[in-house]
Amino acid sequence: MIGETIVAIATAIVPEQGSVGIVRMSGEKAVAIAKILFHSPGSQKWESHQILYGYVRDPNTQETVDEALLLLMFAPRSYTREDVVEFHCHGGIMAVQQVLQLCLEQGAKLAQPGEFTLRAFLNGRLDLTQAESISDLVGARSPQAAQFAIAGLQGKLAYPIRQLRLTCLDILAEVEARIDFEEDLPPLNQAEIQSQLSQVLTDVTQILNTADQGELLRSGLKVAIVGRPNVGKSSLLNAWSRSDRAIVTDLPGTTRDVVESQLVVGGIPIQVLDTAGIRETDDRVEKIGVERSRLAAQSADLILLTIDAQIGWTDADQEIYQQVSAQVPCTGGVRPVILILNKIDLAGTSDDLLFPPVAKVVRTAAALNQGIPDLEAAILETVQSEKIQAANLDLAVNQRQAAALTRAKSALQQVSETIANQLPLDFWTIDLRSAIQSLGEILGEDVTESVLDRIFSRFCIGK
Ligand code: GDP
Repeated sequence: MIGETIVAIATAIVPEQGSVGIVRMSGEKAVAIAKILFHSPGSQKWESHQILYGYVRDPNTQETVDEALLLLMFAPRSYTREDVVEFHCHGGIMAVQQVLQLCLEQGAKLAQPGEFTLRAFLNGRLDLTQAESISDLVGARSPQAAQFAIAGLQGKLAYPIRQLRLTCLDILAEVEARIDFEEDLPPLNQAEIQSQLSQVLTDVTQILNTADQGELLRSGLKVAIVGRPNVGKSSLLNAWSRSDRAIVTDLPGTTRDVVESQLVVGGIPIQVLDTAGIRETDDRVEKIGVERSRLAAQSADLILLTIDAQIGWTDADQEIYQQVSAQVPCTGGVRPVILILNKIDLAGTSDDLLFPPVAKVVRTAAALNQGIPDLEAAILETVQSEKIQAANLDLAVNQRQAAALTRAKSALQQVSETIANQLPLDFWTIDLRSAIQSLGEILGEDVTESVLDRIFSRFCIGK
């Protein structure tokens, strides 16, 4: 319920870490509760956009819980457009948790995930695309993903969508006027309406074409490095991780069989699955290597099949190739395979090497840090030709927005057909309304509570 005052810890809670931890509270009682808990010595003013210095005290025991700063933002000049106070406490766990507890005891309610942003949306401070961009920004795993999120926050998606919707509304008004007052008005300029609609359709399609890129930037790409033991898979991942352009983060969840690393290539977050850990080369272990390659490949979007260029294509390579290039069960498509001819420094000329057809071939000397830029270029070319269509926009829609755009597109196509088939004006209005409705949904107009729940439940608590 929007009348309630909500509170949450807004920063990540990690023991012994985080020099500052923030408890954020929003709602009618936020300032009153802060006044009970926060003691600011001297003559500091409780005014909007002031930072007060002082102590948080338990009102029952008068015990000091933390030395803190209090940031005051009064409605409507705040994130939620309600009164917002933020306690800037010491980091770690205890200070923020105790301050949170005191706020709850004074009648605030623990915020749901995304509830602050939901309020910002419901109070008209943000449209839905902007709210989604905030979640994208928090979740961004590459500088480009963050840049797109900022663009969305600044309304770069909302603006064109709003314009397209307005054009459709204008056309609808023209058509409806003809239905209601046919005799009093000049006839419809059908050619003009057709041309406006076709422009809207072109723009909708262009924005829709950013969906794949959006998906790549948000979810990133899973790449599996597979191959026989000792061909240089681990060396390759090491060289890649060390290269200047790769931003590496260690991911928790690295399993015994598959090592996961997080890199960024061309703005796309890439999760690399390396079937490392096999050192011996007896038959049994080779078999395990094949099986692990198959498992890693199963969850990958792209395969880097590594072979030893000095030895050439072996039966074991062939077996791994067959395993990883098997059809993807749900899509029926085939995962692209990039073949890496490693240890090229030992191979002399590799031109006479025989291997099956693959998406791309890259020559590397992983132990000498050679060939990484070629590898990255090959990955980008492969995924871009596979997934990204030409849409030179600095925005990228998400799946929800893409679904609404797809509905708008088919409604617009329907209107064009209706006009071409000379059907009565009433028919035009049905599909026009449906296009307007779908475009409005992107901005958050007329969306149901369950749609909002779905969107905001993906946010973190305190956002
Ligand atoms: P993995 O079992 O596939 O992960 O292979 P490793 O990365 O452990 O490499 C096996 C051996 O090959 C190691 O001794 C590496 O130093 C060596 N090696 C890897 N890449 C190259 C390379 O490009 N050139 C040369 N000369 N040796 C390499």
